[in-house]
Amino acid sequence: MDSRFPLPRSLNRRIWRAIVEFDLLRPGDRVLVGFSGGKDSAFLLYALRSLQLHNRRVPFTLAAVTLDAGFRPDYPPASMGEFLKDLGVEWHLIRTALAAGLANRKDPCARCAYLRRGAICRLARELGFNRVALAHHHDDAVETFLLSLFYAGKLQTFRPKTELRGGLSLIRPLVYLREAEIRRHLGLLGFDPVPSGCPHEGHTHRRKVKELLHRLCRENRFVYTNLAAAMRIPSASVELWPPMPCREKLQAAYRLFFGGAEGEEE
Ligand code: SF4
Repeated sequence: MDSRFPLPRSLNRRIWRAIVEFDLLRPGDRVLVGFSGGKDSAFLLYALRSLQLHNRRVPFTLAAVTLDAGFRPDYPPASMGEFLKDLGVEWHLIRTALAAGLANRKDPCARCAYLRRGAICRLARELGFNRVALAHHHDDAVETFLLSLFYAGKLQTFRPKTELRGGLSLIRPLVYLREAEIRRHLGLLGFDPVPSGCPHEGHTHRRKVKELLHRLCRENRFVYTNLAAAMRIPSASVELWPPMPCREKLQAAYRLFFGGAEGEEE
């Protein structure tokens, strides 16, 4: 067994837990990892390479893809290529002019993520990959849960696995890892994360939610675990209002209640 790229047991165990629980990997899968050069995607690549070398039961193919959004002229820097070379992972690059299209948007992140994912999935299909691995971790899931609630009025977050058309799926093997532990283990990688150069970073709704969560968690350590528990459905403790009825249904309810006359309660 290969001794390169060791991964601490507790992290390894939770990555396997996500793989098994959410059916993220099958023997023979071809996995394309979205690699931005940031800490999370660099960690994901390292972790999957470690898994690939240290297990015999689930053999899979691994490659990386980087999307250049055009935020900085020197992207991707040579260090990203060196990191992948050390890992022994094949690298694909997609050049785009995404940055220019996002310049005047008030909250560009949803659009940006959508277009990035679209471009990466297109390439995955062209090259015959059946999994696209993304580096979302547990904190991302909880923050997205709050973001959807606050800014979209929806009780939802991303799933560990999303099936797309044509047999392609998005997988998120880091969903059981906390951001802080990824940070703590970055030394393993021998790679300095690369700033994206995006001018919107640090001014997003996500940043506000992250800071709010951080503040609340300092006051009460159960806030995070409560939110994470609420993210799971179905739960016996779900107590939500029924869906907003359409006009016809509401009129029918009035007729039934008042025996024909609408609005008599006023
Ligand atoms: S912060 Fe920048 S790179 Fe990240 S999703 Fe938003 S617009 Fe895209």
